[in-house]
Amino acid sequence: MSPDAGTGEDILSLHDYMAAANAAYYGGRDPIGTAGDFITAPEISQMFGELVGLWFADLALRAGVGGDVAYVELGPGRGTLAADGLRAMGQAGLTPDVHLVETSPVLRDRQRSVVPQAHWHDFVADLPRDRPLIIIANEFFDALPIRQYERTARGWRERMVGQEPARFLLGDTDCAEAIPVALADAPLGAIVERNPASEAIMAVLSERIARQGGALLIIDYGYEGPATGDTLQAMHAHAFADPLDAPGTRDLTAHVDFAMLAAIGRNAGLKPSPCIGQGAFLTTLGIDARMASLAKRNPERADDLHAARDRLVSPDQMGRLFRVLALRHADWPMPAGFA
Ligand code: SAH
Repeated sequence: MSPDAGTGEDILSLHDYMAAANAAYYGGRDPIGTAGDFITAPEISQMFGELVGLWFADLALRAGVGGDVAYVELGPGRGTLAADGLRAMGQAGLTPDVHLVETSPVLRDRQRSVVPQAHWHDFVADLPRDRPLIIIANEFFDALPIRQYERTARGWRERMVGQEPARFLLGDTDCAEAIPVALADAPLGAIVERNPASEAIMAVLSERIARQGGALLIIDYGYEGPATGDTLQAMHAHAFADPLDAPGTRDLTAHVDFAMLAAIGRNAGLKPSPCIGQGAFLTTLGIDARMASLAKRNPERADDLHAARDRLVSPDQMGRLFRVLALRHADWPMPAGFA
């Protein structure tokens, strides 16, 4: 925090504001589900976690790893994806160790109730070093704090947050070196986002996969940069809210730059897949067949299963905004779902 010279007011970068607000937000509650602020794909239907689990089992078994592999999940929420995915993996013959990267004590407790065999970590640097890693990040990177820069007549300036009253401000130092070359000449008023924590986590995981073997599957809402635009948003009770209102009680997120994440992986020697829509990915993996088989066994749930499938796959719901990117060790085979 840096007090404003004139007033003594605390002024934070948007990055520090978002980091503090989200640490308080996730640390103190389970925000997921109908009674919370937002719902995620694994909470919509077991079909999501099952297909992700089968995707990993198929890839790891074709890569020739036996049981000696670690399943890693970043920000596992309620643990539903891990529980559904591990059950499906087990049926396909893969039973990895489970390593969950989670900072929220409340959510760790929820995860412990459904994946009691897991090991928990605060940082990706603490993940095991002696075996291939199969890593899933569903709606994880969007929760990490962004920096925003605005093009002004005086050059690029970082967006800050003042508290009295709550409002956006601009810093006075020049930030041109933070701007990707392709965006250096963006028009006045343009906003560029960077996500230093995402970039650092991606660099660590890429280096580990390059050394240990494995693959990383990222599913989130986002775009393929470089691009300008303000994507900061706040969610409260399933509706958009003001990001400056009641910090620590709303979910603050930003869209994920998949091209940036893919480039970090490629630089470390990994092979990135194309970045495709969640709808196309789940459809290629067979969500319709899975739905039909579940509906046959549970006819009373057929309507719910259809509705869940539509939410996950339809282009006007999660099917297009949510993107899927896979990165793999250069010697691992082409993953399913991207053909
Ligand atoms: N993947 C889950 C939950 C998404 S919500 C699902 O799909 O339902 C975001 C998750 O990331 C929460 O579990 C939150 O506690 C966790 N999280 C947020 N910031 C984190 C950080 N810096 N390190 C580790 N976990 C974090």
